[in-house]
Amino acid sequence: MKELRVNIPGYEYNIHIGQGISTVTLPETVTRTKTDMVVVVTNETINRIYPGLVAEMLRETGITVKTCVLPDGEIYKNIDTLNQIYNFLFEHHANRRTLLIAFGGGVIGDMTGFAAATFMRGIPFMQVPTTLLADVDSSVGGKTAVNHPLGKNAIGAFKQPIYVCIDLNFLKTLPERELKAGYFELIKHGFIHDAALFDFLQNYRFENLDMNFFEEAIFRSCQVKARVVEQDEKETGLRATLNFGHTLGHLLETHTGYTQYLHGEAVGVGMLFAAFVSHQWNFLDTKDFQRVSQTLEAIVEPMVLPALDFNQFQELMLHDKKADQKSVHFILLKNVGTCFINKHTSVESLWEVFQTFLIRFPKLIRLETQGG
Ligand code: ADP
Ligand code: ZN
Repeated sequence: MKELRVNIPGYEYNIHIGQGISTVTLPETVTRTKTDMVVVVTNETINRIYPGLVAEMLRETGITVKTCVLPDGEIYKNIDTLNQIYNFLFEHHANRRTLLIAFGGGVIGDMTGFAAATFMRGIPFMQVPTTLLADVDSSVGGKTAVNHPLGKNAIGAFKQPIYVCIDLNFLKTLPERELKAGYFELIKHGFIHDAALFDFLQNYRFENLDMNFFEEAIFRSCQVKARVVEQDEKETGLRATLNFGHTLGHLLETHTGYTQYLHGEAVGVGMLFAAFVSHQWNFLDTKDFQRVSQTLEAIVEPMVLPALDFNQFQELMLHDKKADQKSVHFILLKNVGTCFINKHTSVESLWEVFQTFLIRFPKLIRLETQGG
């Protein structure tokens, strides 16, 4: 088992990572909170695979445990479903000392975290992530949210968990596509801040689930994110580097209606594009660009996009909440392991490189022509 301490001033907490650890560490940690009621928030899929599992783990603590089961899917990450959590809490007479446990992927983590941030102005919460994406992304950073029809993750709050338990056994039931999608966020931390992590990840093959590999990889990836968030919790600077690959990634997700590709898959293509831009603009040398592109080319999910012209491209880019006027903050690489924020990157210049990108990687990304 590995332990990582996240030192956000006033909100320090531990992350434990290991195979089969939750049966021991979770009851211990929950007992230490001295709470008298735990509400586990999960979804129907996870509850089918692991029925009542967290409640069972906590049985010997003698603490009352209730399980709130939500429908599965990003489309349910909204105010209505959030309200189901509040209803459940009121129905079960929750109070300020009630402990919430998010048991699921990023969607469950985001909604449970937001419920914990707002119910009675804030109650404690823990995370037991069950996807690789949630392991390396939502377990550090404290960003919680639900979607609004006019903005993804637009209604949210910063809320740090009091404990995160990453039990690798949950990855065994995760569909391979979801595992791969999470891998992109994991390797992202190598690209932007940790060349040694990138080297370590190089050798991985997806054929078998090597738990020792994942323990080390998740630990190192969370460590990178923790060191960034500790310095810039509220994203006034450095934290924006975590958006590497996300400018084009968000555009691809929006343009394909969020249904065809997973977030991680879109970020995979987005990171290849960001590395390509870095190389085209002479920030990243050919050798390092090849290291990045060979790794990504081997694992990205090929994409077919509806036709896209400059005006749509611009509109989609500027809709991104991190955008101002006709330019965006774009994260570029200097080397593998070093990045910087290129403020005021014009959308037009990105559109130009995007055209070259389409020609250079025809197998990975293709636009449907007007006729279909
Ligand atoms: P993410 O963590 O990538 O944001 P979700 O929370 O939407 O994604 O989870 C992705 C899908 O995988 C959902 O359908 C979810 O119910 C399912 N899922 C999550 N964890 C597991 C698991 N350990 N085993 C099987 N399916 C899982
Ligand atoms: Zn992301």
